[in-house]
Amino acid sequence: MSNRVVQGRMVTPEKLAELIEGDSILEAESITNADRDCPECGGDVISVGYMPSVTEFITGYKCQECDWSADDREE
Ligand SMILES: [Zn+2]
Repeated sequence: MSNRVVQGRMVTPEKLAELIEGDSILEAESITNADRDCPECGGDVISVGYMPSVTEFITGYKCQECDWSADDREE
């Protein structure tokens, strides 16, 4: 199991990816600890690799304590 507690709720990799993406996703890898702190609250950040579509692979980041999230998309 790689479920983690985020903002007090247990999430699966798929659910975490959907929180970061703000939309449904196709597939997600296991959740890992990101080697960084949240820029908003200093909390622990976790990351998950996921595919929002068949042609895209994104690494997303989410704070376990607050609403902060990010991804590695290039603008
Ligand atoms: Zn935070």
